[in-house]
Amino acid sequence: MQTPVYLDNQATTPVDPRVFAAMRPLYETHFGNASSSTHRHGWYVEELVTLAREQVAELISAKPEEIIFTSGATESNNLALFGTCRAQLSRSPKQNTTVISASTEHRAVLDPLAKLKSDKCEIKLLAPNKDGLIEPEVLQAAVSPECTLVSLMLGNNEIGVINDIASLAAVCRENGSLLHCDAAQAAGKIPVDVKALGVDLLSISAHKLYGPKGIGALFVRASLPKSSIEPIMFGGGQEQGLRSGTLNSPAIVGFGEACRLAKIELEQEGKRLQLLATRLFESLSNSLGGVQLNGAQSNRLPGSLNLSFEGVESAELLGKLSPHLSLSSTSACSSGHGKGSHVLKALGLTEARQRSSIRIGIGRFNTEEDITFASEQIRSAVKELRQT
Ligand SMILES: *Cc1c(COP(=O)(O)O)cnc(C)c1O
Repeated sequence: MQTPVYLDNQATTPVDPRVFAAMRPLYETHFGNASSSTHRHGWYVEELVTLAREQVAELISAKPEEIIFTSGATESNNLALFGTCRAQLSRSPKQNTTVISASTEHRAVLDPLAKLKSDKCEIKLLAPNKDGLIEPEVLQAAVSPECTLVSLMLGNNEIGVINDIASLAAVCRENGSLLHCDAAQAAGKIPVDVKALGVDLLSISAHKLYGPKGIGALFVRASLPKSSIEPIMFGGGQEQGLRSGTLNSPAIVGFGEACRLAKIELEQEGKRLQLLATRLFESLSNSLGGVQLNGAQSNRLPGSLNLSFEGVESAELLGKLSPHLSLSSTSACSSGHGKGSHVLKALGLTEARQRSSIRIGIGRFNTEEDITFASEQIRSAVKELRQT
């Protein structure tokens, strides 16, 4: 076993060696530009990109032409939010518009929304229930005819809870609002079917599912009128004009392979990760006491835990554990700012409990041995900190 053991798979996942093997030839030999239509160097890469697009589409039960490759879920979210709001405002410049989202969303949704906010565009953030979920009734009460877009995530990156997107989508449909869903944390971990979910737009990211960093996709429902979304980047007109720029073909091929593997292995892997997470939680709560699971107790992303240790400061706990375990207390993006978790705050947890919480993300390459080791390390660190 190599230490520190990596248990921060919500922040990013290691690249699967099979993914890297698929990408390698694109760096070594197949360097062509997928848009070069006059020679074999281009044609061959275009074929590889076509296959990858099919593999990505298949993971989420979409059509290949519904996949727009981007640099990641952050860009997909920005394209979905700015793209639809600007399109709406340019279609009906005299009308005000409202976007509804939730206080538990990733910063890659909350920050673009903060920028979108204007006299013409109102932003409403819904509060979750105590489990961290957005209830369809709460959305129902908030929608209005001006609401053009709703953006709600599938799996939460901090607490691992899963929104009932299909029921939320029904509310949006009835109201005539578009629904965007940030599925970066959920795709590859639980089944994601864009038709069953009833979403119009959905963001995913390769590096959350054992693919390379810097590549992701926005699903744009084929039946969505072209005038519903505008590009936010301009240039060569790639990706149906929605995302200009030379395709990152090595990363796209890796993303495709990562999605193919996820599709095949998701069910078994999910069961294994769920088992490991349950075992870790039970061993910690049985041996320590004062351990609480944050967010809904059931229907969670497999392998994802967010735990509070009564009487312990998470910053101290993480510091003590860092030689042995790579863990975090909140999303990687927020931990850099030194601010607390906006998600735990939205759950209404006491300040003390927010400050005593850590996030654990068990992934594909974690073994039973890793989990036994993690349990021992966390137990002894918590005991020590509680004594001081
Ligand atoms: C990781 C993550 C993102 C950002 O994805 P990038 O591909 O790193 O830009 C957005 N939303 C959620 C829920 C995430 O987990």
